[in-house]
Amino acid sequence: MIEYRLKKDTDVWHWVHTCTKWPTFDYEVSRGEPTWGTKCQECQQKQTTEDVE
Ligand SMILES: [Zn+2]
Repeated sequence: MIEYRLKKDTDVWHWVHTCTKWPTFDYEVSRGEPTWGTKCQECQQKQTTEDVE
């Protein structure tokens, strides 16, 4: 199951740990596909080149 993270006061979800904007504090977690907000463009690009657990 992918863990999505959203930094507080934003509406962008991240799920690739190597994303430069990957939140490490002050974030919310969603297990599985988030039902609101938007998905990070950088995470989408990195997902195609790296394995995601
Ligand atoms: Zn990201």
